[in-house]
Amino acid sequence: MKLNYSQFACNAQGVLDEIDQICKNCGRDSSSVKVLAVTKSQSHEAVDFAARFGFEAIGENRVQESAGKKPLAGEQIRWELIGNLQSNKAKLAVSLFDRIQSVDRIKLVRALDRYAGEIGKKLPVLLQVNTGEDPKKFGVSSRETPKLMEAALQCPNILVEGLMTIAPLDEDRSVALAAFDRLRSLRDELSVSSGLSLKELSMGMSGDMAEAIRAGSTCLRLGTVLFGKRQ
Ligand SMILES: *Cc1c(COP(=O)(O)O)cnc(C)c1O
Repeated sequence: MKLNYSQFACNAQGVLDEIDQICKNCGRDSSSVKVLAVTKSQSHEAVDFAARFGFEAIGENRVQESAGKKPLAGEQIRWELIGNLQSNKAKLAVSLFDRIQSVDRIKLVRALDRYAGEIGKKLPVLLQVNTGEDPKKFGVSSRETPKLMEAALQCPNILVEGLMTIAPLDEDRSVALAAFDRLRSLRDELSVSSGLSLKELSMGMSGDMAEAIRAGSTCLRLGTVLFGKRQ
C-alpha cells in the first residue's frame, strides 16, 4: 500500500460521499448500505487504517493471510471471509471469522456447522451464488441454491443471513446490474420459502458499486477504491 493515513482517509470519505449520493439518487437510506473494507493482499497497515477510520468490518479472501493479520487488529473490528474456502481450512476459518460470505456447497456448510458446534459458536454465513453464471467464478448456481439453503437450515450452528455474489467482469454495466437483480430476486424467493428475512445482500465491488446499490446491496466489498491497487 502506497498511501499514508491522511490519503487513505480522504479516499474513504470520498467513497462514503459517493455512496450517499448514489443512495439519494435512487431513494435509499445510506445507512442501509455498509462497507466491508477489503484488505486482501494489502499490508497490515491497511487493517489499522480501516479500523482508525471507523469501518466496522474487514474482508479477507485467504484464511492463512487473515490468521497472520488478525492478532494485530483491535477487538472491535469484525472479520469476514469473502474468498473460496477449502474444506481443510474450514476449522481454522470458523475460529477466525465473524462471518463467512463464501459458502457455496453442501459439504462445506456441514463442515462449518460441525466445527462451529465444537467451539460453541453460532456462525453467521452468506451463501455465495454465481448469478452471472460466470465459469471463472466460484459460487453455487442459482438453480442449486434452494438445495444449499435447505441443507444450511438443517445445521443448528449456522445462521444464514443472506446471499453474496461477484458480478462478471464486463465493460457493459448492464451485465453486473442483471447479476445483482437476479441475486435480489433469488433472495426474495428464498425468504418466502424459508420464512427468514435474509436481509443481507453482499454485492458490489470498486468497479460496480452504483449498480449494486441500485439493485439493493446492503454490503459493498471495497478494496481498490479505498487502498489503491493491490501488490
Ligand atoms: C478482492 C475482492 C473484492 C474487492 O475488490 P475491489 O475491486 O478491489 O474493490 C470484493 N469481493 C471479493 C470477493 C474479492 O475477492
